[in-house]
Amino acid sequence: MEFSSKLLENAVYEMSQLPGIGKRTALRLVLHLLRQPKEQTERLSFALHNLRSEIKYCNSCNNISDVEICEICASPKREKDFICVVEDIRDVMAIENTNQFKGIYHVLGGKISPIDGIGPSHLNISTLVEKVANNEVKEVIFALSSTMEGDTTNFYIYKQLEPYSVRTSTIARGISVGDELEFADEVTLGRSIVNRIPFENSLKSS
Ligand SMILES: [Zn+2]
Repeated sequence: MEFSSKLLENAVYEMSQLPGIGKRTALRLVLHLLRQPKEQTERLSFALHNLRSEIKYCNSCNNISDVEICEICASPKREKDFICVVEDIRDVMAIENTNQFKGIYHVLGGKISPIDGIGPSHLNISTLVEKVANNEVKEVIFALSSTMEGDTTNFYIYKQLEPYSVRTSTIARGISVGDELEFADEVTLGRSIVNRIPFENSLKSS
């Protein structure tokens, strides 16, 4: 792509680094921004800048938050001894939308995936084991997508928690195999949390 302006070329290049955005789409978006009032683009750039400089991760559950302890962890209405293990904030949002879960979350920040070079040490697993070791937890509910990486991660954490007498369960598989959690409809996801099964049972059936 030949550009008449280096400024334009830079902006298109940066935009095309986003997932799913090719050079053509990037050019279309950049030209769109140029046609917008200047303040519009400034608000976008300000929002992105603030996002990166101000965002925090909850000290307790590792969810993205504006404060040190996120709203869910800080709420007196939540049952702190029921912990739902999820991959990232999108799953927290999906489960919250069902209104079926009154416990708190533990956000791993990904799944174990040797192909992508992601091992257990890259994920937020040790703090979960710590909570369980300190007897702060009655039940750990695995709510990872039922992909090979999700199953591997579940099993790894299950093994880490085995020495402690904590109940482990996994969401019922109303969620089809291979599905990402965030795409499940609210009713299905809500039911699968309510009808969760002991984790051991999921090992026998697979
Ligand atoms: Zn939190």
